[in-house]
Amino acid sequence: AKAQGRAKYHVFDPAMHQEAIHLLELENDLRRAVERQEFLVYYQPIVSLTTGRISGFEALVRWQHPTRGLVSPIEFIPVAEETGLISAINTWVLQSACHQLSIWQHHPITPEPLSISVNLSARLFSQPNLLDQIDRIINENKINPEHLQLEITESVIMENTNAIKIILEQLKQRKIKLVMDDFGTGYSSLSYLHSFPLNALKIDKSFVKRMQENEENMGLVPAMIGIANSMGMSAIAEGVETQEQLTQLRNLNCDFAQGYLFSKPIKEQLVMELLATAPQW
Ligand code: C2E
Ligand code: CA
Ligand code: CA
Ligand code: CA
Repeated sequence: AKAQGRAKYHVFDPAMHQEAIHLLELENDLRRAVERQEFLVYYQPIVSLTTGRISGFEALVRWQHPTRGLVSPIEFIPVAEETGLISAINTWVLQSACHQLSIWQHHPITPEPLSISVNLSARLFSQPNLLDQIDRIINENKINPEHLQLEITESVIMENTNAIKIILEQLKQRKIKLVMDDFGTGYSSLSYLHSFPLNALKIDKSFVKRMQENEENMGLVPAMIGIANSMGMSAIAEGVETQEQLTQLRNLNCDFAQGYLFSKPIKEQLVMELLATAPQW
């Protein structure tokens, strides 16, 4: 029995081998993609539930692969993080998004003020020149730092290293807005949350979905909005797909919402049209 147990580890697993080859290919492709700038940024509106109007956009990266078409960030961000390519990609996304904001802001139909949200990987926080790069991008594009929102996941915050705290404090000093993304999916304890300079909690779409499935008790969403409010932060609900969810969130005094009900992420060329034609939700 013992020999058999050990033998298990020597069995050649073709599926695992395929997976390893696939990852290697992906890594090589990704390196080339960074050199050739094969990325695109899509933008998804964030709606203020007080005004019913678009208050900003979240920048979401896509990879325009020469043969595979548009590749989802779910597939390549983890590989980009492992290989360190994420720094180059994320800096490019930040630059592109700030550049777009600087163009949109000067358009007469744009609501004042319009914000732009950019996702930052945990990995970027160990990059020594992160703050310099953010400063440079803000200055070059002449955007008001108050209109830039950086979305970070719980894992970044929960590492709770002093270095991360110092960076977050410095971002706060610049009046950049900090949003905790995917709130509820990680391990944040409330006492931890309190010690970081966050402006908003973004409630993960899995909770918004359950709210609809379980109409009597609404799940955890009311409690999460309550936590945000009691800590002086805004609550943003993501993955809003139905009118019922929107009504419920509004009744719960959720501040902002985002999801397919309003719009899927769109190309930058369609943003002006959306701003011009969007109803008052
Ligand atoms: P996220 O930050 O949680 O972004 C929300 C995801 O939900 C997006 O997927 C968006 O397209 C999708 N979504 C929006 N509304 C709805 C809805 O109503 N229903 C459903 N089912 N989904 C909705 P996407 O664009 O595929 O991005 C996936 C993840 O990739 C993002 O999750 C984020 O963690 C990461 N990501 C995207 N862009 C970047 C980036 O520039 N840098 C970094 N570091 N990560 C990024
Ligand atoms: Ca996000
Ligand atoms: Ca999410
Ligand atoms: Ca996420």
